[in-house]
Amino acid sequence: MITAGIDVGSISTKVVLLQEDEIYSLVRPTGWSPKEAGLNTYQELLQQTGISESEVAYKVGTGYGRISLGFIDKAVTEIHCHARGANYLVRGGGLVIDIGGQDSKAILMNDHGKVLDFAMNDKCAAGTGRFLQVMAAALGVDVSQLAELAKDRQPLEINSMCTVFAESEVISLLAKGADKQDIIAGIHRSVARRVWGMASRFGAAAKQILFTGGVAKNQDVRNRLAIEAGAPVIAPELGQLAGALGAALHARDVAKKDLV
Ligand code: ADP
Repeated sequence: MITAGIDVGSISTKVVLLQEDEIYSLVRPTGWSPKEAGLNTYQELLQQTGISESEVAYKVGTGYGRISLGFIDKAVTEIHCHARGANYLVRGGGLVIDIGGQDSKAILMNDHGKVLDFAMNDKCAAGTGRFLQVMAAALGVDVSQLAELAKDRQPLEINSMCTVFAESEVISLLAKGADKQDIIAGIHRSVARRVWGMASRFGAAAKQILFTGGVAKNQDVRNRLAIEAGAPVIAPELGQLAGALGAALHARDVAKKDLV
């Protein structure tokens, strides 16, 4: 059986086609139209894999753009899908910290991956991938370079919580001759502190901490999150796909039920 999960995020659209344990995936920028991004990314992945639309038993959409997807069979909340996907990548439940483009989430699961509680910041760009994108642009680097640049650096204090003020703070630090790499380390620490501030109330109850979302690709943010948490933080390789994978798993459950 093949099922599909389509996670239309604010920055990137992730599609997973799931066939038994085989995960086929594609990540594309969402751009201005979540509806088109979802459909185009799905169709491109079908083309790449040679799987035909008629072979896909069920399609579940998630992410902020899920409501605009006309071609899916069902829309499911991000919290459910992220937990499901994360628990598939790393078994045993625990706390999922997901930092995406425009929000960050902390999801507490039981040992079987069932959602017990969650917290979400979708009101403020601080502590999200967008914050890192703004800072990277101010520093003239790409987000994919941030981790390497900040590795083993002494973080400088970034005091402003607001993205706009933090950007001004970074620009004035640069003007004063501060080291760019120490500034990036400071930016990472401020993201880690901000996100752990939201997630820490679940920390004591969690037997492990998983880190997902696009920002989890940034190893330095992961290390600084582990410092804030005082515990190891596991970032599974396919962490950015957690939502889409969870959606494809949910789709498989529904399709199997329909068969009985
Ligand atoms: P959304 O689901 O909201 O679209 P994602 O989970 O896809 O967001 O995460 C997007 C964020 O991931 C970007 O804002 C960026 O900060 C970060 N990101 C994307 N690619 C990389 C990379 N190669 N290295 C580090 N960070 C990245």
